[in-house]
Amino acid sequence: MSRTFHDARRWVRLGTELLLRAARFDDAGYAEPSPLPGWSRAHVAAHVAANAEALSNLVHWAATGEPTPMYASPEERVAGIERGRALPAAELTSWLRESAAELERGMAALDEEQWRAPVVTAQGRTVPATEVPWLRSREVCVHAVDLAGGVSFADLPADFLTALCEDVVAKRSAAPGPALSLRAPEADWELPGEGEPVVVKGELADLAAYLTGRDTGAALSAPTLGAWL
Ligand code: ZN
Repeated sequence: MSRTFHDARRWVRLGTELLLRAARFDDAGYAEPSPLPGWSRAHVAAHVAANAEALSNLVHWAATGEPTPMYASPEERVAGIERGRALPAAELTSWLRESAAELERGMAALDEEQWRAPVVTAQGRTVPATEVPWLRSREVCVHAVDLAGGVSFADLPADFLTALCEDVVAKRSAAPGPALSLRAPEADWELPGEGEPVVVKGELADLAAYLTGRDTGAALSAPTLGAWL
């Protein structure tokens, strides 16, 4: 794993900027579909805002030692998105901005020992709080693209895309799927799976889009993959 804590902190700031730059929609704009099945742009924005609040719970946990999970329940998670997507555009955008700023303030206030404190992710993994910036950077960077507001994978920094590909390959290695040999100019990965490895060659941004289950247009010829998360 080549990413560092400081890389992830930088990617959160950068991804948040891209996200807020993309999220300049009126009510009609937010109602447009996103590339995610069944989700409008408003669903994406509400999900990212709720994610900031959920990760702020982990920051609180790390700061105080008081267990505060990301979401009280899966139902609460869904209800938060549904409430958020029904907000008027200006309120949804400000929720997105303020929840991100609040998370940033919380992270900035943690000392070294608090950053090392164990917290539990929504997927039930126990990780040190230093993983929170990585979890958030994936959300802001990938969903900045999902908002379909002019940000593409090619706008994301190459070191983030490399770390993302590495992360998704590790995750997909544990699930059924075709064997792949992924080759970008910057790096390559072997994804174990069924059959002879299919060579998928392309730009880093296109491989990242493909591995995360996003549309790569006509940029790649590659077998279909299942959902990522
Ligand atoms: Zn997400």
